[in-house]
Amino acid sequence: MALVMAIGRFAPSPTGPLHLGNLRTALLAWLFARSAGSAFFLRMDDLDSVASRPELIAGQLADLEALGLDWDGEVVFQSRRHALHEAALQRLVDAGLTYPCYCTRREIREATLAPHGPNAEGRYPGTCRDLTSSERARGEGRTPALRLRGESTRFVFIDRVCGRFEGVVDDVVIARNDGTPAYNLAVVVDDHDMGIEEVVRGDDLLHATPAQLLVARSLGYKPPSYAHVPLLRGPDGERLSKRHGAITLGERLTLGQRAGEVRAELAASVGLCAPGEQPSINELLASFDPSRLNKPSKRP
Ligand code: GLU
Repeated sequence: MALVMAIGRFAPSPTGPLHLGNLRTALLAWLFARSAGSAFFLRMDDLDSVASRPELIAGQLADLEALGLDWDGEVVFQSRRHALHEAALQRLVDAGLTYPCYCTRREIREATLAPHGPNAEGRYPGTCRDLTSSERARGEGRTPALRLRGESTRFVFIDRVCGRFEGVVDDVVIARNDGTPAYNLAVVVDDHDMGIEEVVRGDDLLHATPAQLLVARSLGYKPPSYAHVPLLRGPDGERLSKRHGAITLGERLTLGQRAGEVRAELAASVGLCAPGEQPSINELLASFDPSRLNKPSKRP
């Protein structure tokens, strides 16, 4: 797989400490960008202002630095870019591409649970898509979310790691019913504004990508390319969580490991070095080959 110069980024949500899976994704995102001689940015996806605490942000930055990762310019904070998100939202509203949705989470869940119905796959059933003005008036007691009209658009894209991926997009929520821009809007607007050309992130977000491509297309953006890297899982195949033991860098350091050893384990777990080797960050950079990533995730 050829290395393509493309501005990259890592965009964690600072709602807890980074676990080893997040750190492996960060390492890979950094390697993709830096090995191609590209700029690399760090953005804190901190729209959840309650959970995103300053000490968590500081802890995440310290862990990334301890692994030898660097980034260009200042850290970007999503929460400080509200005006940009609002302007994008307004453009979509002005273009007539959105509609208010009064459904509660529960109503959507119940509708999508209808067995054998057209929504058995869990898609939005379109309840509010074509409300008459009097039906809309009846919902006025509730603050609506805003949805982008998707009309079951199919999106196919070629992921640099996962290959061809096809998804059907329903009507994506682009503003939540508390008025804040939704994640799928903010991520797309920020990546575009930051000039991101390649998004490297965990493959748990592969399914969210067609929706983000729809948002990008509706805003007239050239979308970035994507590389969804394998998510690190526990030995039981589940997402990493506390019950898997020491899963943060801090916990590993407390057990007497050094940051370089943790980095080497992360690299070995995805085939970038042999188990037991201790490559420096520069050695990892020099030997980085994205085609060696197509391996099942293993726990370091
Ligand atoms: N902030 C998101 C997360 O931590 C990732 C966003 C992205 O990489 O596009 O799950």
